[in-house]
Amino acid sequence: MQITGKTKITGIFGYPIEHTLSPLMHNAAFKAIGINFCYLPFRVKPENLGTAVDAIRALNIVGVNITIPHKVNVMSFLDEINEEALFIGAVNTILNKDGRLTGYNTDGRGFMKSLEENGIDIKNKKVLIIGAGGAARAVGYYICKEAASLIISGRTRQKADRLADDLRNISKCQISVTDSIEDLKSYDIIVNSTPLGLKEDDPLPVKIDNLFNHQVICDLIYKETPLIKEARKRNCKTLNGLGMLLWQGVLAFRIWTSKEPPVEIMRKALESAFI
Ligand code: NAP
Repeated sequence: MQITGKTKITGIFGYPIEHTLSPLMHNAAFKAIGINFCYLPFRVKPENLGTAVDAIRALNIVGVNITIPHKVNVMSFLDEINEEALFIGAVNTILNKDGRLTGYNTDGRGFMKSLEENGIDIKNKKVLIIGAGGAARAVGYYICKEAASLIISGRTRQKADRLADDLRNISKCQISVTDSIEDLKSYDIIVNSTPLGLKEDDPLPVKIDNLFNHQVICDLIYKETPLIKEARKRNCKTLNGLGMLLWQGVLAFRIWTSKEPPVEIMRKALESAFI
């Protein structure tokens, strides 16, 4: 990549940031379609978030992704937030248009694209989401528009109740909250939206013996978690979060460049990190 006086800057704000795969995916895409853009990681401490957002304007940065732990707090520094991100209560993409910053959330649509390309249809299905944080809100926003019923299981009951109430306001789907995820047989699709599985010694988010081979098991974590491995052994259809990561990036790319993203190049760049 040749940096010139005309290079347009994009990037990602997070803390820590060293683990991010997004620069691989976006820089490969810019190169592939021959546009003079680059994507940089920015290690932004929580106490510097406001200053960092001001720098998007001051340095004429085209846009950034936002990751842990800034997705919620960044909202108060923006000029505008689109409807989807407002509902979700978190922003993962910012666009700078002449100094005016708009926040978007592409995570939920990214998840739906990942389901679609894997032939997983949630129309009229019974779906269980485990967890009620930002990612659950993002995927729930779309799942409730197609599923027949959606059941939320959250460690903090209040958060799960709030998400259920919010989703009832935007869909006709049957929505409920459960404290028990022992009996899983009736669910068609189960989505883990907790971080359980990121660490080696994490417990599984559900009892593996309670899964059945007619079920689809999705994990939003983008690496192969023990949940995904065990579910595959039980002949369940499985989906990890790599597709969601890809598609949320594809959607952000489109927001920043208004160009058609080279999806397969972006996919290969992400997959290369796991070889
Ligand atoms: P978050 O807002 O912090 O929410 C996490 C949820 O998991 C909360 O409901 C939390 O419960 C619950 N939880 C946390 N630790 C738990 C534990 N030990 N046992 C049971 N429940 C637990 O995080 P998030 O942004 O939603 O992210 C969740 C996961 O999704 C992360 O692993 C992240 O990597 C993944 N993700 C993937 C993508 C992608 O592109 N593939 C995008 C976004 C997120 P409390 O509310 O009680 O704390």
